[in-house]
This record gives sequence, structure tokens and C-alpha cells, in this order.
Amino acid sequence: MKGRTGFFALLLVLGLCLSLSACTPAYESVSFFAMDCYMTIQAKGANALFALAECKDYILSLEDKLSATNAQSELSLLNASGQLPLSDESASLLSQALSLSKECEGYFDITVRPAVEAWGFPAQDFRIPSAEELSLLRSAIGYEKIEHTGNIFTLGQGQKVDLGAIAKGYASCKVSAMLRNAGIDSALVVLGGSVEAIGEKDGNTPWRIGVQHPDGGDNYLGICHLTDACMVTSGDYQRYFEQDGKRYCHIIDPFTACPAQSDLRSCTVICTDACRGDALSTALFVMGREKALDYWQKAGDFELILYTKEAQLYITEGLRSRFQSDLPVEVVSRGQ
Ligand code: AMP
Ligand code: MG
Repeated sequence: MKGRTGFFALLLVLGLCLSLSACTPAYESVSFFAMDCYMTIQAKGANALFALAECKDYILSLEDKLSATNAQSELSLLNASGQLPLSDESASLLSQALSLSKECEGYFDITVRPAVEAWGFPAQDFRIPSAEELSLLRSAIGYEKIEHTGNIFTLGQGQKVDLGAIAKGYASCKVSAMLRNAGIDSALVVLGGSVEAIGEKDGNTPWRIGVQHPDGGDNYLGICHLTDACMVTSGDYQRYFEQDGKRYCHIIDPFTACPAQSDLRSCTVICTDACRGDALSTALFVMGREKALDYWQKAGDFELILYTKEAQLYITEGLRSRFQSDLPVEVVSRGQ
């Protein structure tokens, strides 16, 4: 008798699950490689499949314009000639990048490209430039030397621009707007280290996003809950080389023209604008823990997860109820 009751109970649960899944349509998703990383976008709703295909096409077209490796991209043509009339989209992104460089006090600076090349990051042909070379590289860095009149951009002497620290965040902002315009109110946009959550998962629970541990493996620093928010991470583990026991990462300190040597291993920004979050995560990584937290104290419109070379994990107070970790966590409060 007991066995038959259990069987009927199982049927009831199965029936309930089936009827629930019939009412809750599954997420559609699209995955592809672009801008040097894996991207996955998932969305739910009547127009989801069509909207996702449009998002993918948009990101691939953006990559065509901004790729530093494709010699025919607008960005490469600007870098080669020093002056170019840009398309509206590239001009608007470059203008945003310039104002974010100012906002980030020059720690985010799109003119680091010659230094990125000199250290061998694009070709993965790593080397340490000489002191004379570094001095020349430093003198060419400076976003304020870029001039523009309308869409015509003119670079300073010896300058090249690199949008790698902002392009994915910008793309995330754009595709999230495209998804919302298509009537989608639940989606997750994962473009490499940039994650943007639209609405809630299944409309009833925050998206739970793992923050990668810089030591790799399946480890997470913790899980962050996101609803209509984005999370962008910069770290020393994404692209780097090691020489004589020292790690040189792909994020350049614009004031030294050398790979950033702050006390951070990773810097995660949680905010509502992925483009700004992308620029901030790069800039605050270069600044290091103390200056990054000072910057956070003054700004007040984003939250931070910082992991240091001493294996300390810090979160800012706005994440207290939105971040879970098995590691010891220090919560930084306002005015502290
Ligand atoms: P992210 O992973 O967003 O921090 O971006 C890092 C990429 O942006 C690097 O691979 C470089 O191409 C470029 N980059 C490196 N350092 C900087 C910097 N300080 N400001 C702007 N772009 C940078
Ligand atoms: Mg960035």
C-alpha cells in the first residue's frame, strides 16, 4: 500500500513539474567566439530566438569595426594613419572612452596600445622593453592628446588606441538594450569577463553568478546575485606571462607603460552600466586596493569585489546581502 502511495505521489510531482515546465518556456541561447573571448547570451520570450540572432550579428559587426588585428577595421585604419573620419558608432564609443579616461583619472587610457604591443601581448611574443623604449612609450600615452571634431579623430604623435578594456562592456549595453526593445524581460548576457543580467531568472529569482577565483580551476571567490545589473571583472590571470618568477599581466599602468603591479589579483565592479563598469574594472585594478576603495567611497554608484595578492577578499557594503562566499570576507563600509 505504502509503495502504491509513493508511486502516485511521484506521478503527482512529475505531473506538476510537467505542467509547470509547460507554462514556463525554456531559455533560448546563442554561443560564439568574438572579441577574443567566448560569449553566451540566453533569453526567454516570444522573440527570443530572433533577438539573439540579431545580438550575435551586431557583436560580430562591432568586432569588424573595432578589431585591432584586422588591418581593415576602422580602429586599425585610425591607428595606421593617425587621423580618420569614423562611423557614428565608432565615434560615439571613442568619445565615451575619452570621457571615461578622464573620469578614471587616466588609469583607464585607450592610448596604451603601443605599450601593449611592445610587451608582446597581441602576438603572444612576450618581451620586457628596455628603459629607453619604456620612456618613449610613456611619452606617447595620454588620452588628452587625442583631438576630435565631429567624427574626425586625430591621434597624438606615436599614438595608437586600444578599446579592449571597454568594447565588451559597450557591446553588453547595446545588446541588453536590443533585448529589452524586443520585449525580453529575462536574459543573461555573458561576454567574456562582462556579465549583464536582465530582470530575474525565470522572473522570480536573482541570477546567481560565480566570480572566478584568480587561481583558476572550478573555484569561485563567491556567488553574486544580480537583477538588472552587470558585473565586470579585470584580473591578472586572464592573459599574462612570467619571467624570473614575476608575473606580467595584460593590463598596463598608463603612468609607467608597464604591466600593472598593484596589490590586486582581480577587481570586479557591479553597476548598472556595463560600458562604464568595464572601464572602471580596468582602472581600479591598476589603482590597487587602497586607491580603488577611496574611489568607491567618492563615487557611490557601484560596488566592488577585490581579491589581493595576499589572498584577502574585500566586498563593499552594498553587496553584503548579495554576495556569498566560503572564504573569509572583509566588508568595507562607507566612511571607513
Ligand atoms: P580588461 O580585461 O577589460 O581589463 O581590458 C584589458 C585590455 O585592455 C588589455 O588586453 C589591453 O588591450 C587594454 N588595456 C590594458 N591596459 C589598459 C588601460 N590601463 N586602459 C585601457 N585599456 C587597457
Ligand atoms: Mg575593462
